[in-house]
Amino acid sequence: MQKVVTIGEIVVEIMASEPGVGFLEPLTLKGPFPSGAPAIFIDQVARLGQPCGIVSCVGNDDFGRLNVNRLKADGVDVSAIRVIPEFATGSAFVRYREDGNRDFVFNIKQSANGQIGPAPEVDALLASADCLHVMGSALFCEGVVSLTLQAIDAIKAEHGLISFDPNLRKEMLDLPGMRQAMESILERADLFLPSGPELNLLTQAKDEAGAIAELLASGVKAVVLKCGAHGASYFDAQGRIDQAAFPVEEIDPTGAGDCFGGAFVTAWLRGEKPADALRLAAGAGALAVTRKGPMEGTSTRAEIDAFLSRQGASDPVA
Ligand code: ATP
Ligand code: MG
Repeated sequence: MQKVVTIGEIVVEIMASEPGVGFLEPLTLKGPFPSGAPAIFIDQVARLGQPCGIVSCVGNDDFGRLNVNRLKADGVDVSAIRVIPEFATGSAFVRYREDGNRDFVFNIKQSANGQIGPAPEVDALLASADCLHVMGSALFCEGVVSLTLQAIDAIKAEHGLISFDPNLRKEMLDLPGMRQAMESILERADLFLPSGPELNLLTQAKDEAGAIAELLASGVKAVVLKCGAHGASYFDAQGRIDQAAFPVEEIDPTGAGDCFGGAFVTAWLRGEKPADALRLAAGAGALAVTRKGPMEGTSTRAEIDAFLSRQGASDPVA
């Protein structure tokens, strides 16, 4: 079976129990929960039984141990998660506003994650990868960008595959070198998994059809557009497949896109038909939003299959 590797941040998430604005007064908090978009993605891949690993760094602290223990228990190769004693594990404090937006206090760039870079154990894991999944949120420091670009070249030279979820806020594109890094990753990506408006962030075309045509002409083999509760669509040279979202009660949307991506990439690598991969991914995304805590939303194949069979004949495929 093909091995999936990703590079990027591992953090703990600590959530305010009550919605409201910011962190300007003492609050009841719940956490630490294991988190970090690349970590959630790779945990979902592991829970589907696919060989996989992550390149990351944690501190010599409980926040790091909590994450490494969870990833290891779920089947992720943790050999390239380096422990950096001089730095603390990354963290994100999150509070939901009444309108669904979120306030954050991040410690990522200045955390152990800022030390992600080449090392013998990193090179060994990357050398074993058949597919590199690039998560845009991970490109927060130069070390990750250069390691990612080198890994893409090495994996493509061995006929491996590159999947790319830009997972970024528009403001991030204005950081020095970020647009250029994103463009060179997209140029070499086989599978592109943007979310909503991210579809057009790196294209000349500003409409959906134009952006899809441009991406497919540039060498991307398939595009999967995620649209939250509005579902997802798959595009390749053969055409388009739409998958509506499954109706669920949304408890915590964090991590839905990462679980969706982990499931889609796994099914795609296994050669499943695009419509089946899309349905599995939509199941993983729907299950993710029903659970509180970012990585708590990952699911096994049996859990997703059981969920999908409960959708039955009323399956809302568009
Ligand atoms: P993230 O916030 O993790 O970056 P994203 O924007 O990348 O998320 P979304 O589009 O929010 O990704 O979610 C991915 C997929 O998960 C959707 O295409 C859909 O299939 C499923 N999903 C997300 N939210 C819901 C929901 N409220 N109900 C049902 N399914 C959902
Ligand atoms: Mg996303």
